[in-house]
Amino acid sequence: MGHINQKKQKRNLTEPVSVWAGKDLLDLNRQLDSVTIIFRTIGCYWKKCSMCGYYSDCATTTHDDLMAQLKYAMQKFPDNDLIVKIFTSGSFFDEREISPKTRNDILSKLSSNSNVKKIIVESRPEFINPNVISGCRDHIRNFEIGVGVETSNDFIRERCINKGFTFEDFVQAAEITKNCGASIKAYLLLKPPYLLEKEAIRDTIKSAKDVSSYASTISINICNVQNSTKVYEIWKKGCYRPPWLWSVVKVIQNVKNELKDTIVLSDPVGAGFKRGPHNCGKCDPEISKAIQNFSLSQDVSVFDCIFCECEELFERAVQLEGLSFGSPLVF
Ligand code: SF4
Ligand SMILES: [Zn+2]
Repeated sequence: MGHINQKKQKRNLTEPVSVWAGKDLLDLNRQLDSVTIIFRTIGCYWKKCSMCGYYSDCATTTHDDLMAQLKYAMQKFPDNDLIVKIFTSGSFFDEREISPKTRNDILSKLSSNSNVKKIIVESRPEFINPNVISGCRDHIRNFEIGVGVETSNDFIRERCINKGFTFEDFVQAAEITKNCGASIKAYLLLKPPYLLEKEAIRDTIKSAKDVSSYASTISINICNVQNSTKVYEIWKKGCYRPPWLWSVVKVIQNVKNELKDTIVLSDPVGAGFKRGPHNCGKCDPEISKAIQNFSLSQDVSVFDCIFCECEELFERAVQLEGLSFGSPLVF
């Protein structure tokens, strides 16, 4: 789970960390307006994942604070059909972050707005249980839960990410969710630390296939370097390079060609910067735009007209990186 602040705001407990408008898919063919709300809560109790710095936005908030944050966000809703995405920098169902009453009141306020067609929240699997999910489903027909499973490989999830749950935990949570009539969005992490670029590509492609029977949407989160994280320490020492945008393109092409009925998304946050996914610098804006276009159109042909001479360098770096004992050859 996670996200980067797009608009940092002062630490006012009655305003969310950030709210922004965008576009999203309701299903494979229907685009709607969307609003993303990052609620300020006490944040994730786990706080141990190697790439995650989201909990820096956290504060202790009351029921009234959270309802005020919701009110603030709802004033920004467009007067159209829309998808509402709720993030808390943690788990929507963790009662330390959001009490059952607050959760219920948030969902009932949102669903009483007839423009709201779908609500998406995020949670670690341990908080997903049938009572909670069917209670949420009673508010709205399209209810989706984003789970940061990151990879289907338990070794990588444990050793490179330190996620603290297994693939089996994800599968059980996904089955509960499905049985309650809600859907799962699986977040995969492309290139956690300690993996070669080619291992990372392979892992995300395999993971997408492995999660596809449980998730209606797969969101490929591209690892970036956030302050005060393990990834930051490793990057500082010159031992980590965020993925090439070429890797993202290859992963998306491969996954989408195999999984035609699954929504595949990727938002290249921080693209073109040293601490985000990047290529040579010249082609980064164009490829990043194509990835965003793909996420809305689900059409892999957006990548057909993309060329840059750095693709050859990328191919060579990927071939040779094993010889440098895992150190990145091109930064
Ligand atoms: S589970 Fe991990 S990635 Fe998600 S918010 Fe907690 S520490 Fe961050
Ligand atoms: Zn290039």
